Amino acid sequence: MKYSPDSTRYDSMIYKRCGKSGLKFPAVSLGLWHNFGEVDTLENGRKMIRRAFDLGITHFDLANNYGPPAGSAEENFGRILKSDFQGYRDELLISTKAGWGMWPGPYGDFGSRKYLMASLDQSLKRLGLDYVDIFYHHRPDPETPLEETMGALDQIVRSGKALYVGISSYDAPSTKRAAEILKELGTPCLIHQPQYNMFNRTIEEKHLDVFNETGMGCIPFSPLAQGLLTDRYQHGIPEDSRASKSPFLRPEQVEHSLRQVQALQKIAGKRGQKLSQLAVAWILRLPEITSVLIGASRVSQIEDAVGALRNLNFSAPELAEIDQILAEKA
Ligand code: NDP
Repeated sequence: MKYSPDSTRYDSMIYKRCGKSGLKFPAVSLGLWHNFGEVDTLENGRKMIRRAFDLGITHFDLANNYGPPAGSAEENFGRILKSDFQGYRDELLISTKAGWGMWPGPYGDFGSRKYLMASLDQSLKRLGLDYVDIFYHHRPDPETPLEETMGALDQIVRSGKALYVGISSYDAPSTKRAAEILKELGTPCLIHQPQYNMFNRTIEEKHLDVFNETGMGCIPFSPLAQGLLTDRYQHGIPEDSRASKSPFLRPEQVEHSLRQVQALQKIAGKRGQKLSQLAVAWILRLPEITSVLIGASRVSQIEDAVGALRNLNFSAPELAEIDQILAEKA
């Protein structure tokens, strides 16, 4: 059936400015790491993208290697853009990345200019786009000089193939240095994409200061710890869940988190939220956060995440209780 976006789509979403830039992000964004590959059902992916856009989610995050197989999430997203979103490109923020292994040989991995430039050209072909809104270096490269990687990002913006650039999973000192190099080149670093959730609070140590100093935004990935911070594993490990299907989430991790999850579920319940909603709201408590980058395997999970925006306030005792649960050894 032909798709026409909901005319009320901008009525209740919150849009947040990304650092000191002019660009606004929806408070919830959707990533296509899992569930959008060739191995998945295109129709389910289409439903999720449509519903997300209807709820005011304007930002969709990809990478060259998302699938499986690598590249197929970009191809599928390109198909959906072509069939459903003609005429809406200017309402969408689309990102992609390069940095993890993508093709054989020395030029398809890490952070050389050679890899980044070629990879973005391939991504644009798969997506069927002339440009992406944000292009990221996906992970730090211990061997390539940061000047080379940042120089490539700067050149990519100047070529018009990306409007903005960002970095992902960089430690705090490299983030600061990357921002300095990009600033000197005249292309600000728009945003950092780190992992951040109740079970991984590393960025609270040093990154937040760097974000404030440099004026870059922050969009945390895996905000639900890949599903651990939800009701998904309340009654064991369902066959269609990530812990059962994906090498990135192991059943032992589910087991390990259960006690803390149950304690957090009680707090969520008292707030009238699901645990997934508590986890999203808790991330948005920090002023440095631009958007929360969720993943989903079905429409209802996207609706849950957006529903978190109905209660973003935390009392000091609630935050203290959460800190205490998270500090306990699992
Ligand atoms: P999440 O932590 O949000 O995990 C998403 C998974 O949690 C879903 O696929 C689903 O798993 C489960 N889930 C979500 N909502 C609910 C709910 N309401 N109830 C029950 N279960 C739920 O994020 P991801 O790990 O998927 O990462 C999000 C995005 O971040 C990625 O798509 C990607 O764009 C980006 N990313 C970037 C990385 C980087 O290096 N820069 C690394 C990793 C991710 P199930 O399949 O079991 O239903």
